Amino acid sequence: MQYKISRQAASLSPSLTLAIDSKAKQMKAEGMDVVGFGAGEPDFDTPQHIKDAAAAALAAGFTKYTPSSGIPELRQAIADKFKRENGLTYKPSQVIVSCGGKHSCYNVILATCEEGDEVIIPAPYWLSYPEMVKLAGATPVIINTSDKTEFKVTPAQLEAAITPRTRLFILNSPSNPTGSLYTPEEVKTLGDICVAKGVLIMSDEIYEHLVYDGAKHQSVASFSQAHYEHTIVVHGFAKAWSMTGWRLGFLAAPEPIAKAIDAVQSHSTSNPTSFAQKGGVAALTGPQDHLPKWLAEFAKRRAYAHQKFNSIPGITCVNAKGAFYLFPNISGTGLKSAEFCARLLEQEKVAAVPGIAFGADDYIRISYATSLVNIEKGLDRVDKFVRGLVK
Ligand SMILES: *Cc1c(COP(=O)(O)O)cnc(C)c1O
Repeated sequence: MQYKISRQAASLSPSLTLAIDSKAKQMKAEGMDVVGFGAGEPDFDTPQHIKDAAAAALAAGFTKYTPSSGIPELRQAIADKFKRENGLTYKPSQVIVSCGGKHSCYNVILATCEEGDEVIIPAPYWLSYPEMVKLAGATPVIINTSDKTEFKVTPAQLEAAITPRTRLFILNSPSNPTGSLYTPEEVKTLGDICVAKGVLIMSDEIYEHLVYDGAKHQSVASFSQAHYEHTIVVHGFAKAWSMTGWRLGFLAAPEPIAKAIDAVQSHSTSNPTSFAQKGGVAALTGPQDHLPKWLAEFAKRRAYAHQKFNSIPGITCVNAKGAFYLFPNISGTGLKSAEFCARLLEQEKVAAVPGIAFGADDYIRISYATSLVNIEKGLDRVDKFVRGLVK
């Protein structure tokens, strides 16, 4: 039987990060001693009070449809969060709760982009952005960056990429996969350009709370009323509350865009899981004391991994300011990223994600959301692997 696959679906590549993670998990299940640096999720458990709130909701029978864009209590808690932490004023009607931050991104792109539109995406990029743009029938326009600029686009690069067809600029700071963080001044400047050219910004701020060395994240929406009107902020519970499996994310947008997204969501997924939303309320309104502990642990691992990579011949690594990834440059080893990662997994049982998945073939992505003991063991193996190559 010949099946016709739609043009949009046929144009997609499956998520390489998820593929590597499952390959590593499978090797582990077969009894191999694999060190996994592939994970895109914190290795900490969801804080107990959040689990309790969801369990209580489930026990109380909070198991039916909710309003499609989320329960009022959660949309209010999210609006309060934006006010408190970001100085941004949103009505609950401007807030949409979705089935993960990934779903929020997809909703934004579907609601604002169509055939003929261009979406500017800096590379290295989160691998789902270009695929989502293609699903909407629009065209991804990639701006390449490198470790020489800490993986940040320059204002000149952004200006040069904008055409009359540009609809959206995707900004992800702190970044997955590089961990790079734009300064408030840099964010404002990129925002100024978009405002001047009438380009919308999708600002994916899911790593907002995961920043190091006293660095500061500032939302592009916060610089002026014009910046606010040009920006859709995407966020979620996955990273700072370690709730990846809950599938709960959110966004805040100018009212007409929020309305359009509400319509898209009401005809696709409907509401995110009812009792998960109660967990979301607890996450935003409850204690946040888990966060400094996690950050201290992440910072220790990052420091170790950063110095270790720079001690390996053929590898250089700029330090990340946020998230839980490093993005070392492997071009000195003579291998491209896919071969590097395939051989590393085969020979040394270490899973890392090839940079090619993020549009940057001279790099690999290492997630340090795993114990320091694992990181030491895994990076010793990387060291051995690379020294074997260079000889
Ligand atoms: C993890 C992540 C998200 C959201 O993930 P969900 O699990 O869907 O909430 C969004 N953007 C980036 C860049 C991420 O790394």
